[in-house]
Amino acid sequence: MTSSLSPHRALQQFIKKAKELLGESAVLYDEVDLLVYEQDGTLAVRGKAYAVVFPRSVDEMAKAVELAYNYGIPIVGRGSGTSLSGGATPIKGGVIVSTARMNKILEVDLDNEVAAVQAGVINDWINSYLARMGYQYPIDLGYQYAADPGSQRVSTIGGNIAHNSGGVKCFKYGVTVNQLRGLTVVLPNGEVRRIGGKEFEQAGYDLIGLLTGSEGTLALVAEAVVRVVPTYETTVTIMAKFNDLAAAGRAVSAVIASGAMPVAMELMDKLAVEAVESGPYAAGLPRDAEAILLIQVEGSPPGARDEAAKVAEVLRRNGAAGVEIVEDPARAAKIWAARKQAFGAMGFVGPNYVVEDGTIPRKKLAEALMIARAAGAKRGLRVANVFHAGDGNLHPLILYDERRPGEREKAIEAGEEILEACVELGGTITGEHGVGYMKKKLLPKMYRKEEIELMKAIKTVFDPKGLMNPGKIFP
Ligand SMILES: Cc1cc2nc3c(=O)[nH]c(=O)nc-3n(C[C@H](O)[C@H](O)[C@H](O)COP(=O)(O)OP(=O)(O)OC[C@H]3O[C@@H](n4cnc5c(N)ncnc54)[C@H](O)[C@@H]3O)c2cc1C
Repeated sequence: MTSSLSPHRALQQFIKKAKELLGESAVLYDEVDLLVYEQDGTLAVRGKAYAVVFPRSVDEMAKAVELAYNYGIPIVGRGSGTSLSGGATPIKGGVIVSTARMNKILEVDLDNEVAAVQAGVINDWINSYLARMGYQYPIDLGYQYAADPGSQRVSTIGGNIAHNSGGVKCFKYGVTVNQLRGLTVVLPNGEVRRIGGKEFEQAGYDLIGLLTGSEGTLALVAEAVVRVVPTYETTVTIMAKFNDLAAAGRAVSAVIASGAMPVAMELMDKLAVEAVESGPYAAGLPRDAEAILLIQVEGSPPGARDEAAKVAEVLRRNGAAGVEIVEDPARAAKIWAARKQAFGAMGFVGPNYVVEDGTIPRKKLAEALMIARAAGAKRGLRVANVFHAGDGNLHPLILYDERRPGEREKAIEAGEEILEACVELGGTITGEHGVGYMKKKLLPKMYRKEEIELMKAIKTVFDPKGLMNPGKIFP
């Protein structure tokens, strides 16, 4: 309908019609207004959007997307912009479809243990809403004790679905895809599709699985039906210190092999402990340890205590130099807040860092940690490790000083070497942050050309014009 228009004219027409359809205040196009949309949580990459639109409903989202499609304008979905892979950055320009106004919890149905939400609902709002009913949405991207607004209190369900996000509790509850019962999505041409509903199983191809983790490259998520689960009465935290980093890695497998089912298993190495203990979130973590494991179990009061005692015993038998069972909720809160603050606290041990996100089979944890350390050391850089150990999701933080020429590049290189090692150890180049823009060149390390072609063919079925979040995932 509009292919004859120049890009500039097409954009002007888009803005005019978008304002008619969504209202004046639902369209931003002023240069200054657009500045904040140039980046997401990934500071290394920028892109200029032509406009941002703020639909309030499925219908408005569909109208905005159809309009952009008809003018051949790229479409980039955006929740809260906390992506750490450049996923929400409009690197090829285009229109950003923000879900900031699609922020309603539509229904809570405890008989079916589901909640229906709009895509822009903030992850933690669901938990705040459900708390008084004794229920929770188990994907918490932060830590329930955190005193600060981490990504859990900022990121949206739509963004979580697009990245198939995980969190501390995913060892027990799974990742985002395991919580989804239904999706309402807007296809690139503006058509709406409703997939699944409240039921557990669906017939035919698993389209929810396909769309989850597709990083906004196939369709936009407008609404979702998510699983909710009862909250346990009691949680107990166990903190174990180790004099050897590799031993801490091995102890993770030993705990799991014992049949225990912790909710969370997090590892912090010496440098990560030093960072948090140097700042305002110091929680009395043992600075002399080479690594600590923080484990949380849940259940009825006696059940949780028994489980904690069992886990503590396994840790002692597997090289822990000291184990503390923390029952005092205030102390536990402090410890988990310290864990949560580890990324931010890195400033106390180095001016800049690159954070990577790769996974490995749990049994290879010790090996992967040694590789990460060595990748930094051979470039004269320190690497801190703080990560979801239970599901083998590494987050090495490679410290560098951008004032020293070439250090940033070395840090990026070390990160890539670590991710390549993750693949060689049988893991992946991303556990939860997505491929986005930052890791697309590593995709061929994981897949052969034929497999990447298969994925591209699927993209073409959904998005024949290549308008959805262009420049992401594929090298
Ligand atoms: C401090 C901090 C802590 C973090 N902790 C974690 C963690 O524990 N676990 C974890 O998994 N991640 C974590 N992240 C990464 C990030 O928060 C997640 O990837 C999150 O899911 C992104 O949500 P968002 O709403 O900010 O999405 P955005 O950053 O806005 O977008 C992310 C991607 O989703 C797409 N998208 C957004 N909305 C939609 C939609 N409605 N339909 C289709 N595509 C869409 C975007 O195009 C982009 O590709 C953390 C980030 C920060 C900054």
